[in-house]
Amino acid sequence: MTDSRKLRPATQLVRGGLNRSNHGETAEALFLTSGFVYDSAEQAEATFKNEIQHYQYSRFGNPTLTMLEDRLAALEGAEACRLMATGMAAVHSALLSHLKTGDRLVASRALFGSCHWIVSTLLPRYGIESVFVDGGDLDQWRAALSIPTTMVLLESPSNPMLDLVDVEAVCELAHQAGALVVVDNVFATPLLQRPLEQGADVVVYSCTKHMDGQGRVLGGAVLGRQKWVDEVLQPFIRNTGPGMSPFNAWVILKGVETLKLRVDQMCRNAAAVADFLAERAEIARVFYPFRPDHPQHALAVRQMTAGGTLVTFNIKGGKAECFRFMNALKLVDISNNLGDSKSLATHPATTTHMRVGEEERARLGISDGTVRLSVGLEDVGDLIEDLAQALDTLATPAARAAE
Ligand SMILES: *Cc1c(COP(=O)(O)O)cnc(C)c1O
Repeated sequence: MTDSRKLRPATQLVRGGLNRSNHGETAEALFLTSGFVYDSAEQAEATFKNEIQHYQYSRFGNPTLTMLEDRLAALEGAEACRLMATGMAAVHSALLSHLKTGDRLVASRALFGSCHWIVSTLLPRYGIESVFVDGGDLDQWRAALSIPTTMVLLESPSNPMLDLVDVEAVCELAHQAGALVVVDNVFATPLLQRPLEQGADVVVYSCTKHMDGQGRVLGGAVLGRQKWVDEVLQPFIRNTGPGMSPFNAWVILKGVETLKLRVDQMCRNAAAVADFLAERAEIARVFYPFRPDHPQHALAVRQMTAGGTLVTFNIKGGKAECFRFMNALKLVDISNNLGDSKSLATHPATTTHMRVGEEERARLGISDGTVRLSVGLEDVGDLIEDLAQALDTLATPAARAAE
């Protein structure tokens, strides 16, 4: 096996972690087995004493998972990776394996809905203090991190408004406060943003999104230092059981082979869609990190290599206009998933962010006119035609009457 860490991302995604069995199969083998057998009672004993390396039980280790873990670690430039059943299992395990009663966590407010719930509702139940800051405001980070802190959690770009956090600056403040920094890098993918190089300690993913990227399985990943993974995360996984199924790992191994091709094309499509939407009279505002009118454009081009696969926009009017637009889409599907090869439209205020409440939605900048579009792999000409005909249905009542 070549050292895949020295290879370029597109190659790592196809070759990284590949570990063929003695049958010499071309594709990665699916070890759909719950357990493993030993040659002797002595070998079993030595395995449990950690004297030899031998798989024991798929709750905490399986050869198909190891291949994907090694592939993702090489891609991320991380020492180690562990796979989880879902992205939320990844976030939950990264936080709860490390935190204990009396600890303190500071998080950016603009988090994925379930991450927001863990921070605002679950952690305080265990006596863990949690503090939200506006992720784009370094003064708020500075104030919140002026006292000792155990962990920092941030997401950039954020769901759904595509707000950015200055990862490097926040990592520096966090480390001065003694905190371990966890970055939810789902929207950027490992290809567009490198949080570990920007100072983060742990990176988490929902593999459900771009890594599978074809709407089949759920999965999550946690990446970080070997010592932290071995001593903090692995015992938590071994004893609480949030790990990924070998079947899902096998699907995602095949999914990531095309990750770079898909993400590069989806970014090109998203940039074109954002430019198209910005010219339409029915749209009040477009949010796309690589458009010069994004409020954090300078930061975006500094810490990302492309603008991402999501475009968020505010339709003039409110919920009624949004619903009319979404219901008029013929090609783009209505769904709350993202990062899929199929383009998907979401109305966050009534779905993904319904439960955060109206007040918090206002603080996050989510209005009743906000639509989040996950741009897929269709021909961008067809996407723009579909969006255009749906926007045409929003013509003013007077204009419609005149038709
Ligand atoms: C989807 C998502 C998650 C959760 O992942 P699941 O696989 O759905 O559990 C966490 N963070 C972000 C930013 C996401 O988009």
